[in-house]
This record gives sequence, structure tokens and C-alpha cells, in this order.
Amino acid sequence: MTTTSTPLARLPLGCRVRDGEREPLARRVHREITHPYRSGFQRDRARIIHARAFRRLAGKTQVFTDRFSDHFRSRLTHTMEVAQIARTIANALGLNEDLTESLALVHDIGHPPFGHAGEHALDEALRQHGLSFDHNLHALRIVEYFEQRYVGFRGLNLTLGVREGIIKHSHDYSAAQHPELAEYFLDQRPPLEAQLIDLADEIAYLTADLDDGMEAGILRLDHVSEHVRIFEHFYVPVQKRYPEAAEKLVLNEALKSMLNALAGDLIEETLRRVSSAGITSLEEIRTAPGRLAAFSPEMEAQRMEAKSYLYENLYHCEDLVRDQREAARIIQTLFDAWVANPALIPPGHEMDIAEQGPARFVADYIAGMTDKFILKQHDLWQHSD
Ligand code: MG
Repeated sequence: MTTTSTPLARLPLGCRVRDGEREPLARRVHREITHPYRSGFQRDRARIIHARAFRRLAGKTQVFTDRFSDHFRSRLTHTMEVAQIARTIANALGLNEDLTESLALVHDIGHPPFGHAGEHALDEALRQHGLSFDHNLHALRIVEYFEQRYVGFRGLNLTLGVREGIIKHSHDYSAAQHPELAEYFLDQRPPLEAQLIDLADEIAYLTADLDDGMEAGILRLDHVSEHVRIFEHFYVPVQKRYPEAAEKLVLNEALKSMLNALAGDLIEETLRRVSSAGITSLEEIRTAPGRLAAFSPEMEAQRMEAKSYLYENLYHCEDLVRDQREAARIIQTLFDAWVANPALIPPGHEMDIAEQGPARFVADYIAGMTDKFILKQHDLWQHSD
């Protein structure tokens, strides 16, 4: 972990994804006229922000359902925090900021209602039909198929760079298991812009969930400080320096410094790895033996410690588990009812049901819902007989 304040070196220019319209990663499936003053990735950012699936993130749970507080993160505000962090890191490293920001804005677009509990429940439901649910693969289907905004084609016609990043930002898919993803260079590493996203996501939610967890009264400051070294490291000095300050403000100062330390470490470690491997081009990033965007080993250990703490004390606490169980029950109930009797699904989807089969269609339909919408559907279903 480092606290240096000297200006950082930048990555060699060749490591950056180039965004001229003729660049391979700026290619689109359907040809479009070059925009006079916006790059391909800038246009993708706008397309993502204007997508209906993006707007629905406002109504989806991040960690806390809205019975807790209006102040807590939704999946939309979480997404904006990730975009802010990722863009800052990309800028410091000299990477393509517009591609990074587009990837951050789209990274959670495939999430169903009710956070990870919803994703897990949908996956379980689909497995009974020999299928599975994965939010990255679902995100790709949203931008390629479900969004309908253009007269000439279905989907958003995003650049290859953004579609590759949607698939590969957090996970390596095997080419043998996913032949349908062949165009996304599955045997190669993603560009650094995509590699950053998963780590910016970690930085955003580790700090935000400590914040919301304490605000919810589930986590206690002294307990967190005792068990999470990276938090203690910044919390104790602020507390000593401002003994009279409101607890909430001391907490905020500590979390701000923690976020900054994680981002700074990620920037420095990524620079260190790229330079010690002598890498100067995107091609070399793609063929490197491992991902190059990373925390230092010391910071990685602290990140893991904070994450385990959150799992044990927040994500698996009785208060949240109760909501997660209820979410799973609602999803399973509606899924089973609609798959058994697709006539119960509101009209207008007959073609898609025939094309995808009822199980996949119903999972897609549920995945697109906000928390409020699925609760309303569940209520209607309960009162339907
Ligand atoms: Mg996320």
C-alpha cells in the first residue's frame, strides 16, 4: 500500500485502445455514418445512458431493498460510482477514458431485480430446465437484442470493444463452452480498460457497503475498525484529529481515504506490472500470461479481508438474508407460474416466447424487471384466482 503524492507515470501510449472509427475495436455489426465530432466509444456511452435497461437500474436493489432508506445506493447510483472511479483510474493511467466509462456504465445492466439474490434465484429456476442465468451474458443480449431504438436494426449496435468488455470485464469464458462468443477473442486477455472495471467495481462497493451498512445500523464503527485493517488505518487518525466531529463525518473521511488508497494502489500496481513485463502494446496485453490490472499483494490481502468481513457481517446478516429469501421465493413463484402457463404473461410477447422457449423467455422477462415491477406482478398473480 502506498501513500505517495508524486505524479504518476503513465502507461506507454500503445497500451491504450484507440478509438478512430476504422480501429478494429470501434467496429459495429451494422455500418453507420461517422459522427462529425464524437468517437465511437463516446457514442456508445450515450447509447447506454439512453437505454431503457439503464434507466431501470434506478429501481433495482444493489444491496439494500428500499425498505431500508432512500439514501442508500441503488444499482444505478452504484453504476455511476463505478464509472467515476474507473474513469479517474483510466485517466491516470493514460487509457481510453470513453471506453472505460462506457464499460462501467454498462457493467451491471444485465442484473435482475433484488441484487445477487435475484440473480441466484433466476439461475436456480433456469437450471431446472437445463439452462442457466449469467448477468454478463444477459447484458450482451440486452444491448444486442432487447433494446429497440433504431429503425435499421435491433439492439444498440455497440462497438466491438464495448461488447467484448461486457463479456470479459469480470470473468474469462471458455471458447469450448461458449462457441457463440467466438468473436470476442476468448483465448486472449481483454484490454486494460476492461480489466479495470471489475476492480473499480470492488473499490466502489467495498466502500459504499461499509457506508450503507453502518447507516443501516447493521455494522458498527468500532467493530469494523477492529476487523478491517484498511478501514482502521484511515479511521483512527481522522478520529484522533477531529475528536469533536460528528461520527458520520469521520466515517466519511475514512471511507474517502480508503477509496483513494485502493484506487492509487491499483494505478501503481498496474503500472508496475506493465512496465516490469516490458509491455508497450495492446497486443502484448492480450497475450500476457495473466491480467495486468491488479492491486499490490498487500492491498489485495486487505481487500479480501474487507470483502470477507462484509460477507460475514452484512451480506449474510439475518436482516438481509430475510429479504434475499423473500426475493428468491417471489422469483421462483412467478417463474414457475409463467413457464407452466405462458398465457398469464401480458400479451405482446408471443413471438419471443415461441422463439426462445418459455423458460428462457420468462427468465429474460423477469431479469428486465425493477424490484417494484416484480412485486406488483407478484401481487397481481396472488390475487388472480
Ligand atoms: Mg457492479
